[in-house]
Amino acid sequence: MLQDVLLTDEERALKQEVRDFVKNEVPSDLLKKMDKDEITYPKEYVKALGDRNLLGLRFSKQYGGRGLNWTAEVAALEEIGVLGTALGCAFAMPSIVGEALYNFGTEEQKEKFLKPILKGDFVSAEALTEPRGGSDFFGATTEAKLEGDCFIVKGQKRFVVAANGADFFIVYCKTNPEGKPQERISLILIEADREGVETKYLYQLLGTRGGGTGRLIFRDVKVPASNLIGGLNQGAEIFNTMMVPERLTSAAFALGLARAAIEVAARYSNRRYAFGKNIRSFQGVSFKVADAITQLDAARALVHAAGKTADNRLPSTRRLVSEAKKFATDMCWDVCNLAMQIVGGIGYTNVFPIERMVRDARLTQIWTGSNEIMSLLIQHEYYRELLNDPNPPRVSELDAQEAHMEDEKVYEDAEMWTKGW
Ligand SMILES: Cc1cc2nc3c(=O)[nH]c(=O)nc-3n(C[C@H](O)[C@H](O)[C@H](O)COP(=O)(O)OP(=O)(O)OC[C@H]3O[C@@H](n4cnc5c(N)ncnc54)[C@H](O)[C@@H]3O)c2cc1C
Repeated sequence: MLQDVLLTDEERALKQEVRDFVKNEVPSDLLKKMDKDEITYPKEYVKALGDRNLLGLRFSKQYGGRGLNWTAEVAALEEIGVLGTALGCAFAMPSIVGEALYNFGTEEQKEKFLKPILKGDFVSAEALTEPRGGSDFFGATTEAKLEGDCFIVKGQKRFVVAANGADFFIVYCKTNPEGKPQERISLILIEADREGVETKYLYQLLGTRGGGTGRLIFRDVKVPASNLIGGLNQGAEIFNTMMVPERLTSAAFALGLARAAIEVAARYSNRRYAFGKNIRSFQGVSFKVADAITQLDAARALVHAAGKTADNRLPSTRRLVSEAKKFATDMCWDVCNLAMQIVGGIGYTNVFPIERMVRDARLTQIWTGSNEIMSLLIQHEYYRELLNDPNPPRVSELDAQEAHMEDEKVYEDAEMWTKGW
């Protein structure tokens, strides 16, 4: 197994612990009811995770975590991912919201909010996306005006997981409209029961059902200034920090979802017959399994590498995390589709879970920063690293036979070129 070279003994033990929880303590009925939207938020599941001390594994024991690192959390997330995106997200949310509270919150906020989410007593949610768009973070229109010792918050957020179910939201608000983009936004914690907070449970989703995804409306909500997380107008810095767990968790549970899909399909291909032969014996089928498992292992290696860069706070963290999110979620979509193709017509029905997995997988390419936004970040970081490398490698360009033909190396466009004549 690839994990054997990627994980320490302690991490392998954690993986097994989470595997046992997923196998023995999460009833199939929960997944089925959530997929039928008969459950609006899986609170009992979150509580069960909290009771086993499985939430927010990276945070220190003082606040209820286990003081582990990203590679451990990635290993746990892969196991959780088998349950699909809604339960994966419910597991990941304390890690995402917790990142803001742990790194930027006051001691009082950690006691009052971080500890209860790690115990599974409180459900938290993150409200970033607005009806006007999610990709353009700095374009946030939800406003918070400081009046005396309170903020007055006005605006809307949409696609918030646990909009229906959360005890509190962390909400990115514009607090300095005239400021530079990096100094325009603050992060404010808003309890769900505050006057003026309205949750609209609107979305009939393709997949990822039962997670309470809805729209939030803030109508002049009065929030004490002590609910500000970090400093005033420090939202951009907090956002950049939170995007590591936001994207690494998506990448890591996509591994589990893809793994579950290909396992179902490979077992099916081992039993199903056509033309008098087991379909596994057709290369058209078994090579799909080979492609899927190769892609899965490659994604797993990349996600673990991204986890290690994050653990070591290396300068390439942003690029590696973005690559991991894009690669693992694209892989998940491809693998779930290969799995459906292997199973054939019955795979397109709800007799097998692959159709649900395909529906779940599709979201992973869109949320927590779309894969186009990941490409934007990856190329940006790559150019920055390439063009500022203090120790560049051999200049391979000079190894061409006619490398000395400098006159032939034209870089200017038409306008610049003719100016030079
Ligand atoms: C089920 C579900 C759950 C979600 N959960 C949450 C949550 O809990 N909290 C939260 O805050 N949000 C959540 N989201 C929102 C999600 O993160 C956004 O949908 C996502 O970031 C994209 O934003 P958008 O939908 O507004 O699309 P837009 O930002 O309008 O983008 C539309 C398209 O344009 C592309 N695009 C935009 N800008 C660029 C660019 N510069 N270069 C290239 N392409 C670009 C995008 O990739 C996308 O393909 C959730 C969404 C869904 C569907």
